[in-house]
Amino acid sequence: MVALAVDLAEELRELKRERNAVILAHNYQRPELQDVADFVGDSLGLSYAAQKTDADVILFCGVHFMAETAKIINPAKRVILPDLEAGCSLSESCPPARLKAFLEKNAAKNYYVIAYINCSAGVKALSDVICTSGNAEKVVRAAPQDRQLLFVPDQNLGAWVMERTGRKMDLWQGNCYVHVEFTARSISKIREEYPDAVVVAHPECTYAVRMLADEVCSTEKMVSYCKNSPAHEFIIVTEAGMLHRLKKEIPDKIFIAGPTDNCFCGECRYMKMNTLEKAHRALLNMEPEITLPEEIRRRAERPILRMLELSA
Ligand code: SF4
Repeated sequence: MVALAVDLAEELRELKRERNAVILAHNYQRPELQDVADFVGDSLGLSYAAQKTDADVILFCGVHFMAETAKIINPAKRVILPDLEAGCSLSESCPPARLKAFLEKNAAKNYYVIAYINCSAGVKALSDVICTSGNAEKVVRAAPQDRQLLFVPDQNLGAWVMERTGRKMDLWQGNCYVHVEFTARSISKIREEYPDAVVVAHPECTYAVRMLADEVCSTEKMVSYCKNSPAHEFIIVTEAGMLHRLKKEIPDKIFIAGPTDNCFCGECRYMKMNTLEKAHRALLNMEPEITLPEEIRRRAERPILRMLELSA
């Protein structure tokens, strides 16, 4: 079984060379996909990697909105997603039609819309600027002072950025079904078990969990934070795939997955839809391919480029 996986990984690498492709993988992907990728990172890092690549094809091991983002900033490249069903509960909580209707109804507020990157191309096209959890604070601080801000779609990340910047924003009531499973009770309990461990949580977690954390940061920052911290043990409160990267890059420290109150293991079912087999098949057949109407793509590109300029 292990040998088969190794062979398939090798075949995928060979195919990648033939197709002049680059493989990008999100931190929450299965370990075998992270291991075969050219670049593993968070949404911001992946956006940069997608922007910089000179490959003809991007095999995007992540969820749909991420592959869409890669396509938006690389219209001439072919972007392939191993499983087209790999969606996102957070993105789905903000359908473009609902946001459009909300903005029309509240036209008098003349909202400046800041969209977390975890949203569809249709929502990006309605936004003024995009942010990731890694640069949200910077993006919000740079927002025009004379405009009322609307933050979509993640209410927890939005609330966290408000706390950090002191800037008031109206928040869309969306959330990530994985991160809201962590509770103050489940985190307090594991803390008692590992009293010396440092708790590191993602800002998509609820306020009650963020309050218990020693550090709240993006998945990318988690890597540098844990590397540089004098602590030896860490409780990681985010999607469980993150532990693979942390253990690989910081082998001398101990990482414990933040638990939930039930048997839910902290794995995102959408992220885990991609497999090595599907990735190989997708690159072989050059499908499923991400395509977008040019008008939407063009409108969605502007706020992404604004973000990339701001966080450069
Ligand atoms: S972990 Fe949450 S935000 Fe990320 S893809 Fe899964 S559902 Fe969406």
